[in-house]
Amino acid sequence: MDLGADRKRDSLRDGFGREIGDLRISVTDRCNLRCVYCIPEETPTFQPRDELLTFEELERVTRIFVDAGVSKIRLTGGEPLLRKSLPELVASLSSIPGVADLAMTTNGIFLRDALGALQDAGLNRLNISLDTLRPERFRLLTRRGGLRIVLDAIRASRDEGFQPLKVNVVPLRGFNDDEIVAFARFAREEKVVVRFIEFMPLEAGDVWSRDMLVPGAEIREAIHDYCAIEPVDASHAAETAERFRFVDGSGEIGIIAPVTRAFCGACNRARITADGKLRTCLFSLAEIDLKGPMRAGASDADLMGLIGGAWAAKEAGHLINSDDFVRPDRTMSSIGG
Ligand code: SAM
Repeated sequence: MDLGADRKRDSLRDGFGREIGDLRISVTDRCNLRCVYCIPEETPTFQPRDELLTFEELERVTRIFVDAGVSKIRLTGGEPLLRKSLPELVASLSSIPGVADLAMTTNGIFLRDALGALQDAGLNRLNISLDTLRPERFRLLTRRGGLRIVLDAIRASRDEGFQPLKVNVVPLRGFNDDEIVAFARFAREEKVVVRFIEFMPLEAGDVWSRDMLVPGAEIREAIHDYCAIEPVDASHAAETAERFRFVDGSGEIGIIAPVTRAFCGACNRARITADGKLRTCLFSLAEIDLKGPMRAGASDADLMGLIGGAWAAKEAGHLINSDDFVRPDRTMSSIGG
């Protein structure tokens, strides 16, 4: 991996001056969990396997994005570890010159056995999603089970060198918002960075409401009341999380508030869905197909043209807080969170 990554190139710039920098790749829309706020209980209609971008297509498209200015890649889904032979993809992406950071977001259930292979293949950062520390509630929330497995995976990942290890929590009013302090304690005791993410209207089944959302400011106050925190300076402009350290030196937490404190003005992210559609915002209503042209023989220059056109038209920001807001047809699990 090109960790120096100071290669000079002209990055794509959108109409608001934002340079592309970060690519989120969904490697599958399938998931082994059925989290109540993310995916419907009845078996959803997943993409047929031949609609998924192959590893070769993913590597090709990633190279083009890197030429366009991307240096950070995140693999997500669905559950990325459901994709067979994932370490092979990690190895091919991590060897692309210009990839400075290769990360993955996972629910952790299948992580433990894959850790060594992922690390050897060049994965250098991990986020593990976990919304409750209570076994019974975990079962209700995920409609499956496995809290102990996820906790083991968190500890193993941290101990095997994925540091700082980030744990993503989505607080939902009346569901797990009584665990915010428990998660802050978890961050300090387990030496992991817990990141609280505001619930966004991207769920299956239209359950989102402003009442269910726990605003970032409320999360910050609850944690500060438990143990004093102070801001940490952002290490780069496009950082989505507001970072806070515990004043007693016992660790760090993050708060990601896309609804109450939108960071669209600094957004440098593009996303590719598992079926090869390019999205320039989680809330985009339009997507650009890359798979069709690729399979019809498009050249790299053709694909760069499509990517450049999409990036030039990147939305100013999401409209969640406006009367004009229209939900995208896709849910988070089919876009790639
Ligand atoms: N399966 C992997 C996992 O669980 O981490 C990756 C995909 S999952 C869609 C990625 C992240 O999106 C998870 O942390 C999940 O909690 C979060 N997420 C899903 N729906 C969300 C929503 N409506 N608002 C905010 N976060 C959401």
